[in-house]
Amino acid sequence: MTCSFPASGTPPQDLLRWAMSQFGDRFAITTSFQREGMVLLDMAVRLDRRVRILTLDTGRLPEETYTMIERVRERYAISVEMVQPAGDEVEGMVMQHGPNLFYGGVPERKLCCQIRKVRPLERKLAELDAYAVGLRREQSATRESVAAVSEVGGKVKLSPLAEWSSGQVGEYLAAHEVPEHPLYAEGYPSIGCGPCTRATKAGEGERAGRWWWEDSADKECGLHFTPAGKVMRTVDVLLEQVLQGNA
Ligand code: SF4
Repeated sequence: MTCSFPASGTPPQDLLRWAMSQFGDRFAITTSFQREGMVLLDMAVRLDRRVRILTLDTGRLPEETYTMIERVRERYAISVEMVQPAGDEVEGMVMQHGPNLFYGGVPERKLCCQIRKVRPLERKLAELDAYAVGLRREQSATRESVAAVSEVGGKVKLSPLAEWSSGQVGEYLAAHEVPEHPLYAEGYPSIGCGPCTRATKAGEGERAGRWWWEDSADKECGLHFTPAGKVMRTVDVLLEQVLQGNA
């Protein structure tokens, strides 16, 4: 990537304007229709309705997310590209491990995320030079160093709201009457796949509703030793077995 990036502190709308003019239809907003993603979508559509909007349709999204997608399509008169997993990979995984494998252990959960989210996104990103996501530094310790613009795997990744507070997000949404995902009203601070996300109780962290059955001390995938003595993450072994089963 040879373009020079905008200066740090560039406002989100200006970052989006820059990316849309620099990359055209090789730029997209990727969103799961949470608050931050909706701020970006609203800003980008105001700049140019032809902006590409991508979402991962894992096949296990809650019904409310499909309702939200319909609302967004109508409100903005735009299309949403729904990125789906490869049917043969899902079929192989479910055949080997069952439809609710994610409750069986961390490697199985990560296998499901690989097949339903990571691999489809990687395939879609091959069409793009740049994409924007709704990460904010304030959201968690692991997001404290999020850069507004960075290069990841040869793609320009924008997090235009990196420096925003949740208050700024709320103010933007209210000022522009941006639609809100219906699950926020039911106590979900973070919204993902239906079987893996729940509402949280007072005092619980934002991410407590994700994969709540996993012991946080047990979130690593574990290691597996192949017959040749090679050490592999268990999730990679499971993935290889699914892909080999499909070959
Ligand atoms: S969040 Fe749950 S259902 Fe969704 S891809 Fe990951 S493990 Fe599968």
